Amino acid sequence: MNPIRSICVYCGSSPGRSDVYLKAGHTLGRSIAEAGLRLVYGGGTKGIMGAVADGAIRAGGKVTGIIPRFLINKEATENALGRLDELLITENMHERKHIMFEKSDAFVALPGGIGTVEEIVEIMTWAQLGHHRKPIVFGNIEGFWNPMLALIDHMKAEGFVHTTHLVNPLVVDRVEAIVAAILAEGAAVDSPTTGLQSVIDKL
Ligand code: AMP
Repeated sequence: MNPIRSICVYCGSSPGRSDVYLKAGHTLGRSIAEAGLRLVYGGGTKGIMGAVADGAIRAGGKVTGIIPRFLINKEATENALGRLDELLITENMHERKHIMFEKSDAFVALPGGIGTVEEIVEIMTWAQLGHHRKPIVFGNIEGFWNPMLALIDHMKAEGFVHTTHLVNPLVVDRVEAIVAAILAEGAAVDSPTTGLQSVIDKL
């Protein structure tokens, strides 16, 4: 596993119904910056995506935004994109996702919609196929991801997750504990992660 230098955050391009989600995004961005890590994200300046970037930028953090050309002026404004210290414009979604994967040492899903699910599920499928062992975290703000976690457990119980030991996303309820959880997982390089979730539950 690479040392943790950057964290990719997948999350909604919408704000969601509750302020709690926006606040969580802001807090996560800030804590990534305060840990001296780079935020990698989809470049959007609206919704939770915008809150994460804003939190990181205000705390003096480094931020890479990766956005397909056709989404500029939909998920972002050109002005706001100027605040990012690295902006990569891709031709399509596939290229965007690939660069986000390559540039990131860990992945977090905060509350979001179908795009967020698509992105974090792809990262889990690549873990399942043994392409990477980068930490994957569900930021389970207000239990947002419980239905998704129940579905994964159900798939495991019914025998459809063929390499269960490779698909063990961390579940972190408190947004303030997410970066510490990733660093703890990164420090447990190549050692069994059994018990790590119980350590994280106490963070
Ligand atoms: P959403 O959770 O639907 O608000 O989307 C969050 C982010 O995922 C947005 O930046 C979307 O542009 C992005 N997204 C949506 N669909 C896809 C897709 N098929 N592949 C990659 N990114 C996507």
